[in-house]
Amino acid sequence: MEKVQHTKECIMCFSAIDSRAKKCPQCTSLQAKYSNLENNPIIIGALALSIVGIFGFIFYQNIYVAGLEDQAQKNLIANVSQINTKNENDALYVACIGQVKNESDFTFKNIKFKVDFLTDQNTLVDTLSITDEDLIILPNDSTNFRVRGIAQKQAASYNNCQVTITDAWAYK
Ligand SMILES: [Zn+2]
Repeated sequence: MEKVQHTKECIMCFSAIDSRAKKCPQCTSLQAKYSNLENNPIIIGALALSIVGIFGFIFYQNIYVAGLEDQAQKNLIANVSQINTKNENDALYVACIGQVKNESDFTFKNIKFKVDFLTDQNTLVDTLSITDEDLIILPNDSTNFRVRGIAQKQAASYNNCQVTITDAWAYK
């Protein structure tokens, strides 16, 4: 008889059950708060969707988009228009200027340039590798670029520059 006096309502079916019961004898629901995941298809569904969403996002960012970074080298064509040098604050700066053409439906940013500076004899004198974090190249569009850095050699030895886009962040 003592048992009957200490009852509680089942959190799922509201039957009167033993207050110490962890599981309802009527509907088999666990009585601890938040422990009824197995009884709640909405929560399970939402959790499953979140997990699929998170993994989908990770996959998209790391595998799909990262894979497309290789595309940058094929889709982005850099054409050099000029090279110039300038003395500034006791340092010689060299800049390679031109246009990047994007022949794809992707937008590119974080463009990584590698510039080889050549003499008039086409001898390599200097190399710059920079990532331009401001430049955004829209789909099927052309944008001006400038790669600039401190020159390691004398101004007269910088006659030409060749630009390679080694990496970029592609997105739609
Ligand atoms: Zn119950």
